[in-house]
Amino acid sequence: MSFDTVWTNGRLWTGRVGKMGIPDQIVDRGCVACTAGKISFVGRSEVLPTPIDAKRIIDVEGRLVTPGLIDCHTHVVYAGHRADEWRMRLEGCPYQQIARSGGGIASTVRKVRQASEEELFIQSARRLEALKADGVTTVEIKSGYGLDAENEAKMLRVARRLGQQCDVSVSTTFLGAHAVPPECSDKDAYIDDVITRQLPRIHGEGLIDSVDAFVEGIGFSVDQVRRVFDAAKRLGIPVKVHAEQMSLLGGAQMAASEFHALSADHLEYLDDEGVSALARAGTVAVLLPGAFYFLKETQKPPVDDLRRAGVPLAVATDCNPGSSPMSSLLLAMNMACTLFGLTPDEALLGVTIHAARALRLDHEIGSLEIGKRCDLAIWDVETPAELAYHLGVRPLFRRVWRGNG
Ligand SMILES: [Zn+2]
Repeated sequence: MSFDTVWTNGRLWTGRVGKMGIPDQIVDRGCVACTAGKISFVGRSEVLPTPIDAKRIIDVEGRLVTPGLIDCHTHVVYAGHRADEWRMRLEGCPYQQIARSGGGIASTVRKVRQASEEELFIQSARRLEALKADGVTTVEIKSGYGLDAENEAKMLRVARRLGQQCDVSVSTTFLGAHAVPPECSDKDAYIDDVITRQLPRIHGEGLIDSVDAFVEGIGFSVDQVRRVFDAAKRLGIPVKVHAEQMSLLGGAQMAASEFHALSADHLEYLDDEGVSALARAGTVAVLLPGAFYFLKETQKPPVDDLRRAGVPLAVATDCNPGSSPMSSLLLAMNMACTLFGLTPDEALLGVTIHAARALRLDHEIGSLEIGKRCDLAIWDVETPAELAYHLGVRPLFRRVWRGNG
């Protein structure tokens, strides 16, 4: 066997899930080999014939090697920030007043519409670099701050370009049904626009990997989102949903049972029927502890029930300017453990194989297995639990994307 690169002498956390959903044992003195950007060997070093035939051999000196991390829910592409609004809230200014002075999501929509594609790219790339410094090799990026065909397309073009120029894989999600734009007061009329103008045009540009929508009082109703998902289904695009974040409206249940949604995200108010629907459909529950923390929520997602029902749990940053201005997936893992009670192993599965499944990419990424893309994170830690444990430490030693790094 001849390889491009072999990383030897690592402690491998493979992310392969064995019986009972427990990750396989760590492989000590393990090595990973790469050929043409894909994993061509993974296992104990002594299994490989010596001398190793490779263009490049890297001794990682006992460091932990995991699959590259996957952030499966972000709004990384946006312009500006909302720190002033946050300051005003903390100084006691009523939300209505902030909204009247042009705050809230409307302010981000305005800034995104005003920004050129280049400005949007530069601002978003900074956040992406922060995610990469946490070992992230794949990022999902949503639109949802353009709220018209032209600006939603602009956001997703920027997302695609980030994927082409930043040594990271990007999965794009069209979130036209995120909020009603400031110039429109009729939600049904706006949903018509999403379905008849935005979705077909942006899909036609090849910019959409999946379709998302926000089911909530301040977002859209189950019926309105069902119309969006019907349109996505007609185009053969998979769906995911923001649901049960602030109230129980049944969006997760609808998305799972009627559309086999890839994921249902947030889920603080999910009920038993919703849990069963996710389990039956194989829908991933994506936990977003950054938004829970930043909004000072108290209702937690039903993690015990989801776990008992066998629903795969993913963890993501939800990086966005309004409710989760966070560009650290390791911090999201820590919060998932401290705030929601995940175990460190569950948190790591939540940013690897389960996150891959939430993007329908689990056949390509998310675990160290032969044939998958050679996306690795090599860490200056002894045990996997340390990844979610340290706060403010950047334990990444080296990031490998498609065999490079
Ligand atoms: Zn979100």
